[in-house]
Amino acid sequence: MTTIESVRTSFFINGGWHAPSGSSTLPVISPLTEEQIGSVPAATTSDVDAAVDAARTARRLPEWRDISPAERAAHLRRFADALEDRAEDRARAVTSENGMPIGLARFAEGAAPVQLLRYYADLIESTPVEERRTSQPLPGTTVVRREPIGVVAAIAPWNFPAVLSMFKIAPALAAGCTVVLKPSPETSLDSYILAEAAVAAGLPDGVLNIVNGGSDIGQYLVAHPHVDKVAFTGSTAAGREIGKVCGELIRPVTLELGGKSAALVLDDADLEQTVTGLATASLLNTGQTCYMSTRILVPANRYDTYLEAISAMSAGLPIGDPMDESVAIGPLASARHRDRVLSMIARARDEGGTITTGGGTPAAVDRGFFVEPTVFGGVDNSATIAREEVFGPVLTVLRYDDLDDAIALANDSAYGLGGTVWTSDPDRGVDVARQIETGSFGVNYFNLDWNSPFGGVKASGIGRELGPEGLAAYQNLKSIFLPG
Ligand code: NAD
Repeated sequence: MTTIESVRTSFFINGGWHAPSGSSTLPVISPLTEEQIGSVPAATTSDVDAAVDAARTARRLPEWRDISPAERAAHLRRFADALEDRAEDRARAVTSENGMPIGLARFAEGAAPVQLLRYYADLIESTPVEERRTSQPLPGTTVVRREPIGVVAAIAPWNFPAVLSMFKIAPALAAGCTVVLKPSPETSLDSYILAEAAVAAGLPDGVLNIVNGGSDIGQYLVAHPHVDKVAFTGSTAAGREIGKVCGELIRPVTLELGGKSAALVLDDADLEQTVTGLATASLLNTGQTCYMSTRILVPANRYDTYLEAISAMSAGLPIGDPMDESVAIGPLASARHRDRVLSMIARARDEGGTITTGGGTPAAVDRGFFVEPTVFGGVDNSATIAREEVFGPVLTVLRYDDLDDAIALANDSAYGLGGTVWTSDPDRGVDVARQIETGSFGVNYFNLDWNSPFGGVKASGIGRELGPEGLAAYQNLKSIFLPG
């Protein structure tokens, strides 16, 4: 393992290290110790201009624009190899920045970005750039071409910074686009490892550029005249703003936003397997995961049994230093976010919710942005805690009368991102899945699949990432008409 530099003083632009034009920095705060552990420069608008210009120039360079899919795939594979060499560094950097349990970080932030680059390298080789169709109604042939959409502004949140950036970078590069990435201010440090891997892999200059900043810099990037597509993952509130700007500009945009997904526990579910499965499906990354099943719908006649079992499971999850491999619940990513989660718990209590476990900060720790896993009972689906995304280790257990009632409750949400059903009959589970208004759904578990589309309906977003659909999101279609 190499040492991770924690004080960075430049940006990765045009294949090299670009001195910032301003003097402001963004602190990197450890959520475990609450101390500053590093810093990165904060971009000004002229740094963003430099990054977009580099991406715009690189888009037209023959060594990027004119290469074959096989040559582009080779670039992605070299990038994957270089990133694999740094996987442990990246995982540890993310855990230091946002408190993600290290076992999860090794997979999601270390290994998964490498897998995604390899997945899209394979896909671009097997996806024809052009196809010929017989024209209608006049006789002729039409060549349908898939062309790179251009310069992509990729904006990532702090919860899974490495893999969610790669949801965008890998298909964009595979399509022949160039990228300006803006990570979240809480998690800007780990993206320097991504940049170092790009250098080690010999990725052509300007194909990937990275600038740091908050929402102001994000807004500037989204509206930049030389950006051709925006790919955003983050809150629904920010997504609405970005959607407005892109609508005005008629600029393609993918929005991966918040959620309030349901777990439907059917009457034939095995109690122990369901509750064990919910630990991951509802509380992964200390609940800071967009597709978590945080509204747990259980049959009314088994309500008390499930409430007790889910509370016991939540209370039993090991909490502590996220670098400790046995820990399942780390600190929340920032003091601001911890305060927001605690205020939502207080509001739910005020609205009459009953806390069966948790509800505050753990007594055993004297520092760090920790919130105990917390379970609410005694509310119905109209309570704020059942309607708004908490994005922390907070679950609400709700009762239903029959399956139609459960499906109606699951669908009674502004969001539609994930969801799960728990049953001993997988066919019944698939039948339920078909009736839920959502972008993805798991039967007895939830699994992100690189080979299938991921995204939301309703307030959870527009567009899809992953799978061939995730590649198509970075391609424009052009029809060329040939007579005869
Ligand atoms: P956020 O919306 O506050 O910020 C996300 C990113 O957008 C950051 O980089 C931020 O600096 C930038 N940003 C904020 N406002 C902006 C604006 N108006 N214009 C341009 N950029 C802007 O979200 P967060 O708190 O970092 O992340 C948590 C949220 O992300 C949760 O709501 C969660 O559900 C969502 N999320 C969704 C998915 C998904 O795939 N659907 C995945 C992970 C997280």
